[in-house]
Order: sequence, then C-alpha cells, then structure tokens
Amino acid sequence: MNIAKVIVDVPASSINQTFDYSIPIKFQEILEPGMRVIVPFGPRKIMGFVVERVSESSFDKLKDILDVLDLTPVLTKELLELGKWVAHETLSLSITALQAMLPQVLKSKYKKELVRMTDASLPTELEHLFAGRDSIDYEEFEHVNISYYQLQKVIQAGDISVDYLVQSKITKKQILMVKPARESYFLEEAMIDLPKNAKKQKQLLTYFIENHSSISQKELVNKLQTTPGTIKNLVDKGLLETFKTEIFRNPYDDDSIERTTPLELTEEQRQAIEPIHDAIDRNQHDVFLLHGVTGSGKTEVYLQAIQKVINKGEEAIVLVPEIALTPQMVNRFKGRFGKSVAVMHSALSAGEKYDEWQRIHRKEVQVVVGARSAIFAPFENIGIIIIDEEHETTYKQEDQPRYHARDVAIHRGENHNCPVVLGSATPTLESYARAAKGVYKLATLSKRTNDQPMPNIEIIDMRAELHAGNRTMFSRKLKERMEQCIRNGEQVVLLLNRRGYSTFVMCRDCGHVKECPHCDIALTFHKNSNRLKCHYCSYEEMVPTICPECSSDLIRYFGTGTQRVEEALTELIPEARVLRMDVDTTRRKGSHERILKEFGDKKADILLGTQMIAKGLDFENVTLVGVLTADSMLHLPDFRSSEKTFQLLTQVSGRAGRHELTGEVFVQTYTPDHYSIKLASEYNFLDFYKQEMGMRKKFQYPPYYFLALITVSHENKVKVVQTTQRMVQLLIKKVNQNTVVLGPTPSPIPRIKDRYRYQCMIKYRNEPNLRTFLNKIIDQFSDEIKKDNLLISVDLQPYHLM
Ligand code: ADP
Ligand code: ZN
Ligand code: ZN
Repeated sequence: MNIAKVIVDVPASSINQTFDYSIPIKFQEILEPGMRVIVPFGPRKIMGFVVERVSESSFDKLKDILDVLDLTPVLTKELLELGKWVAHETLSLSITALQAMLPQVLKSKYKKELVRMTDASLPTELEHLFAGRDSIDYEEFEHVNISYYQLQKVIQAGDISVDYLVQSKITKKQILMVKPARESYFLEEAMIDLPKNAKKQKQLLTYFIENHSSISQKELVNKLQTTPGTIKNLVDKGLLETFKTEIFRNPYDDDSIERTTPLELTEEQRQAIEPIHDAIDRNQHDVFLLHGVTGSGKTEVYLQAIQKVINKGEEAIVLVPEIALTPQMVNRFKGRFGKSVAVMHSALSAGEKYDEWQRIHRKEVQVVVGARSAIFAPFENIGIIIIDEEHETTYKQEDQPRYHARDVAIHRGENHNCPVVLGSATPTLESYARAAKGVYKLATLSKRTNDQPMPNIEIIDMRAELHAGNRTMFSRKLKERMEQCIRNGEQVVLLLNRRGYSTFVMCRDCGHVKECPHCDIALTFHKNSNRLKCHYCSYEEMVPTICPECSSDLIRYFGTGTQRVEEALTELIPEARVLRMDVDTTRRKGSHERILKEFGDKKADILLGTQMIAKGLDFENVTLVGVLTADSMLHLPDFRSSEKTFQLLTQVSGRAGRHELTGEVFVQTYTPDHYSIKLASEYNFLDFYKQEMGMRKKFQYPPYYFLALITVSHENKVKVVQTTQRMVQLLIKKVNQNTVVLGPTPSPIPRIKDRYRYQCMIKYRNEPNLRTFLNKIIDQFSDEIKKDNLLISVDLQPYHLM
C-alpha cells in the first residue's frame, strides 16, 4: 500500500481527478488518508490531500511525495467522502470542496511549531531536541534524524501539539482617541478667530469646550455627524490632539458567563422534544422541522436535546445565521455547556478560527456553534445537528462550492445516524412542504413561553400619508408613538428594508443617474467620504458637483439609505438618540456587538438598521418596532420576494415586547393589500404558506420545481449571447420533455467588472442525470474557458438570481 492517491491543489477542471504518488519509506508508517502532502506537479511543488492508499497503480513511473504537512489527518474519512459528495452535488472541483471544509490557516503557508502540552517525558531523541524548551520550530525537527512515526506517536498521545504561528488579533485592538490640546478658554478664543463659514469646526470646538475630555474619534464622528477631516483640521491648528489607545476585549469571555440549568419545559416544548430525544436514543436519522413563533423557547429545546447527546458521549453541531451569532446567542450555549463549546464565527481572526477548529479536532469540545461552514466540523460521533432560523439564505454558499448547509447537514445526519433539527418561526416553503408530506417530522410551538401575546401589528398605508400632505418617510402615527416611547424611557427598533434601494445620485434636470463605468449598476453615495462607490467592483469617484450630461448643478442624491433616514429622524425628533446599524457601521470587527451593547445599555432610544437587526435580538426595553418600507423587496426580480417579505416582517415583529412590557409594531407600506404583508401582520403562516404554494405551482418554482441557473460571462457581448444560446440548445436536446429551459436572458445585473452576463434557467422535476449533462456540456466549452477567459458558472437551487 505504498502508493497514495492525491487530490492536488490545482483549481482546474482538467485536473479534477486523483494523481498517484509513491510514498517514500520515511513516510510509510505515518501517512494516512486525510493528510496534506507536498507533491511535485509538473515543474512545481504543490499541496494535495491524500484520499487513499493503494498498492498498485496503472502508471509505471510514479513520483515521490516530497513532504507530509500533517501528522494527524485534518480530514476524517467521513469528511473525505463528504467532499466528494459536495463536489458532485454542486458541480465543483474536489479540491475546492475539500478546501471549504478547513480553516483558512490550513490553506496557506504558515510557520509551524511543536509545543509541549504535558509534563510527560518524551523519547530520548525528542527530549534532546526540545532541550528543556517548551516549544521549537518545526524546521528543527525536520533537520534532525528522528522518525516521523515517533513524533506522530507523541502527538497522538497528546504530549506534543503542532501549532501554526498565526497572530491572534482579537484581544488587542487600537482605537484612535481625540482630546482637546488646550484649555477651554483657549478654545473659545480660537473659535472667534475661525472664519464664519467654518461651521463644522466650530461645532467640534463647542463640543470640547463643553466636554473637556477624550473621546474615540469614531464616537465623535457619529455623535456630531462630523468627519475625520474636520478633526484633522483642528489637530493641525494645535487645538485638538489625537492619540491611540489599546482596548482589550474578548467577546466570549467564558468565565464571566453565568451558568444556566435546564428549564422546566412547557407542555408544547415537551411534545416537541420527545420524538427528538427518541431519535437520539435510537440512533435514528430523522429530520425535524421545529416551527415555533419567536419567543416560543426553541433554543431551550435545542439545549436540552444537546444535553442528551452529550450525556451519550456524542457531539452536537448548531448552525445559526452569521449575523445572529451575537454574544447574546453564544452565551446561551456557553451558559449551559461552558467550555465544551467551540464557536466558529467569521469575525474571528484566522488564528482564532484555527484555534477553535483545533479544539474540535482534538475532541476538547462536544458542541460547536457556528455559521454555515461549521457544518464541516471534524467531529466523529455526531449525535445531533441543529439549524436555527433554517429559512436564512446565508446557509447557501454563494461561491464554489455552492452548497446549502441544510443539505450537507442531512447528508451528515445520515452518515452518523442522528437527528437533524431545523428551527424557524417562518420555515421555508421547501421545508414546510416536506413536513406537510411527512418527509420531515413537524413539531409546532405556537405560544410564547411567557404567555405574552405576539405584539399587535398595524399596517400603515403610506399613500394615505402622502395624500394628507406628509412627505416624510415617517407616518404621523409612528412619529407620535416614537416620541411617546422616548418620553416613557422605552426603546424603539426601526427597520429600513433596504434591499432593492440604494442611495444614488441623480440629476434633477435631465434625470441622469451616475453609473459604474464597469458594471451596469448605479453607484452608491457614501456620505462620510462624500464619494460614489460601486458595490460590485471596487470602483469609486468623487461626487460630481455638476451633471456630466447636461452641466446642470442640480445634481442630488436620492434613495433611502440608512444615513438619510438617520438624518431625517434626528430632524423630526431632535431629542432622540439614534444608533445606526448597517453594513457601513458594522464593517469593523466587533462593531456589531458594540452597537448592540450600547443599545442594551440604553445609551440610545432608537436602533435604526437594515435586515441585520431583525434577527435574534432580545431587549426587554423595546416596546415599539417600526418597519419603514415593508414593500421595497416585493418588486425585486426574485420569486422568493413575497416569502422574504413575510419572513422579515415576522422576524422583526418578534423583537417587540418579549418581556413584561407589551409591544407594538407599525408596518409602513405602499402596498397594504399584498398578501405577504397582510398575512404577516396576522401572524398567519399557514395561509401564507397555502397562498404562496399556489403561486409557486402556477409559475413553476420551488418547491414544485427544482432550479438550475447557468450564468455565462465574457467581455464580448456577442460571444456571451451566442455561448448561452448554444448551451440552451444542447440542454434542450438532453432534458425531459416537461423540463423547462429558459434563455438566453440578460442577468438582472447585465454587466459586472466589464464582463457581460447572460443566463439560462432550467426548471425541472426529475432529471437524475442533470449533473452529468451539465458537466459534459461545460466540457465542450473547456477550450474557450481555458484560453479565452470565458466563465460559465452553474448554481443548483440558486438563492440569488443575480
Ligand atoms: P425562540 O428561540 O423560540 O425565539 P427563546 O428560546 O429565545 O425562543 O425563548 C424565549 C424566552 O423564553 C427566553 O428568555 C427563554 O429563556 C424563555 N424560556 C424558554 N423556555 C422556557 C421554559 N420552559 N420556561 C420558562 N422560560 C422559558
Ligand atoms: Zn443633467
Ligand atoms: Zn463597478
């Protein structure tokens, strides 16, 4: 068995196969499938995964494996098989699928070191090598004559660990602070000398005259709606000073988390958990759909199911949407299971992610809570997989491999004979339809645990507001209630349903809209930097002062960005303290948590944000939720737009009145009669489900039909259209009669980064060989893909039709 089959790290379809290498003697004792190796490939040395050891090869002159990167496999047998399955299901390359399962650190070159983990004495040679040190460079080991086998033994015994030298950044973070450089009377005098129109500078000085202390630049900019540039002006004049300070934080500081004990379950919870416990006991793979209104105690059900799994000596994977992975959520799991919990979060640094992955790999934890990719956690005895908020689209990966975490979860659940639990207040139509057919087992939690009613949702017709002469984006009723709330010391959550809107610049004279020169899409206005940016490529430019088309100076920005709403809001209710949460204010690591903490500490009256505020927040003082534009998503070219609107409204309504105070929700809309808005306001999931299923059937969409989206892109438009046309013709010949092949049609964004984009959509009910057809057809274009920069991408069960 001295030949290894290796999948090499060359992302090209022509190389999507295993290659045989012979295993040199020094590695023969240690090499196992799932280890990474370095192999010669043409003139290069590249990384590869060993997938199998065999004794014969059909090739006669094999090259040697040059080096072995891991002394314990990084991928288990199950994960190697899973990689193959993911690659097949998503039409991606094996190497891409395998890489997707590993933390970033294992995909790039870092220095390794060997670290002693225990006091146990090592074999003499290794003791000599360490020479009293706690850790040594891995290279030192490679330069002495100690067998890999010997080292592998002590690693397996847990006495030595291989670590990667990646800097960990989370605990140390520098922030820029601003403070006055002179006494207040000096600032007052300086203010008189400033030119009349230096309003921004005066405002800053006034602030520091009133508050003679330091403040972070970020907070200052937010507070005064000023710019770093204005601050710099005053620093240059010697009036202000900036300095850096280090803040220490660890969002998951385990020791400070209060331990919790299992709650006595409600009758509904008991009925929901019983069959899950049963499946755990019997090692039975079943998929459960836990349909529970927000606040119905789904999380407690998860926790008690996991407890049972841990008691059995097995492991649990919990997926939550990335943006719901807040300390609030994580603490509920750490509070119950303490140090047995690993967290996989995209905001962790590469080093931290690797550390968490190592804790799983070494079996130091039994539970992982994480976003999508945590579904690949290298556990070997999985007892349950839970997907919270199963309707979230973030469970679908948008680039290769385009897997859906739910499908992977079910596949792993089958491998491990364990239950999979999908939880949501608004399940996807796909999942609910499966539950209705009995493919999944349905459990329903219809009541909140505290017996509080769901907050009352009132629909406000914004057309009527307009007729009554109210041109602002806040209805009179919402304004009045917000003011009332603030007076009572209660808090407000305002959702701006931003998808479908952006802040763009338009000329009022000729209607010219500034577009990206490389992508067919309007540039987005960013107030802080006063620049226009493209959200698809990195293009940006200054905001023009005169229209490039007609030279008019009436060029203004339009749309409903959160920044604009924030301005309008502070104008409307000047006493309101507003916190804004959107992609701009949460770009920096940790800012999401910080905003939530500030709001929780009641440092603001109103939390204004996009979709990301709709999930998982639990603040006792929130009594009012406002949705500013409920219908902005309804007009997108997306067959799920009604479903998404229904889900969003339900989720955000769940944010109000979760505790003693009762809550109230106002939904502003221009289409008050749309069924998704109406039924969401009545919390009527079932009727929504029925009505939407009718639409899906009529227009041949999931769950009645499966979809495959092929996107072709190239710099030459004619070529794109022709290629797509050829694909359509090839496909039509192959597929069943009742399968629909649509196209070529321009993609909703017809050009990105100077490449034209056309698509073809396949709607099918039963095409067992579709993946094979698609692979064959794409193969016919492989020359053009390789030589002519043609791109063809296939997305099976797409979520974004762009
Ligand atoms: P969901 O995940 O369904 O939105 P949560 O799990 O957040 O609901 O539960 C809402 C609240 O009810 C939480 O504060 C939780 O601690 C509490 N809770 C859950 N189950 C029980 C129970 N059996 N008895 C009392 N309180 C409960
Ligand atoms: Zn113009
Ligand atoms: Zn662009």
